[in-house]
Amino acid sequence: MSRVTRATINLAALKNNLAVVKQAAPAQKVMAVVKADAYGHGIARIAQALAEVLTEHDAFAVASIDEAVMLRAVGITHSIVVLEGFNSSADLGLIQQHNITVVIHHLSQVILLELHPEQANNIKCWLKIDTGMHRLGFAPDDVKKMYQRLLNVGVDTDIGLMTHLANADDRQDPKSEQQIELFHQIVSGNPAETSLANSAAILGWPAAHGHWVRPGIMLYGVNPFISSKEEEPNKFVSHLNPVMTLSAALIAINKISKDETIGYGSSWQCPEDMLVGVVSIGYGDGYPRHAPSGTPVLVNGKRVELIGRVSMDMIMVDLREQPDAKVGDEVILWGEDLAVEEIAVAAGTIGYELLCGVTRRVTFEYTEAE
Ligand SMILES: *Cc1c(COP(=O)(O)O)cnc(C)c1O
Repeated sequence: MSRVTRATINLAALKNNLAVVKQAAPAQKVMAVVKADAYGHGIARIAQALAEVLTEHDAFAVASIDEAVMLRAVGITHSIVVLEGFNSSADLGLIQQHNITVVIHHLSQVILLELHPEQANNIKCWLKIDTGMHRLGFAPDDVKKMYQRLLNVGVDTDIGLMTHLANADDRQDPKSEQQIELFHQIVSGNPAETSLANSAAILGWPAAHGHWVRPGIMLYGVNPFISSKEEEPNKFVSHLNPVMTLSAALIAINKISKDETIGYGSSWQCPEDMLVGVVSIGYGDGYPRHAPSGTPVLVNGKRVELIGRVSMDMIMVDLREQPDAKVGDEVILWGEDLAVEEIAVAAGTIGYELLCGVTRRVTFEYTEAE
């Protein structure tokens, strides 16, 4: 039998989460963010499932031209926005060929369009404004000038205006309000469409809704807020359902004596004679190597603790609370009854990184089960 290490992707949960986006931002159009292989869930199947429930006016967003071309190759006909735009003249040909919408965030892109006006003709653009994150975008003072240069080079005249919030995941942080305020000052008087909100801003900062919202992580059922800082749970967060369940199986159960140590570096010592389970998943599958002893794992639906270091292909678990567990029994690493957010906190990272990090060695299965 082949190795049982599986990511089960629940497309009904995905569609439910899109419905939550629509409830939280009912007047907005949606750019469903499917970059990084749909946050590790598989871009083709995720985009096809979302396309069934998005309206024809909604769109997809990806990070790169390659990802946009991939979406066209699997039959996506919605608008596709490339959040980092382009950086070569070869990209311009693909943009024309595949009817791709681009984000223009840097002078080098404007210059490239001016050097290739025939390729710039009628392409659809968003202009990105840096309101304080200082990653991508034009400084507020340059926006008018760049907007005019884009019009002059002949792009589609419906140029959108967008920005990105640095700290939207922390509702105690005053920076979001400052960025939203600055954005509104810059765009006032311009009838262009606007977009500011990632998942956290959709749920936490209604003033940032604009015309288009850009949900990513919430589509995959993950709470976008810094959970340790949550004062009261957001009413929409409780309606999100995790899309990915990562599972494996017990491949061995061994009786180990008191005082013996478990795994590489002998980092965990048995306090008594005990049963130790070996599970068919490790960092080679994307389970985080930094998950410490004590990180929860579900064996037959019940919590047990990871013990010892995570290896490439295996982890070990404490089976003292699960004396009836058998070789072959199911183990869940995150998903329905064990939030990836909890594992992320234990491993010192965020849910986004864990989801994106699931490797292609894992078998992906897609279901529509409610
Ligand atoms: C990735 C990304 C998003 C989606 O962010 P989430 O936090 O996953 O909702 C939105 N906008 C931009 C510009 C992004 O890069």
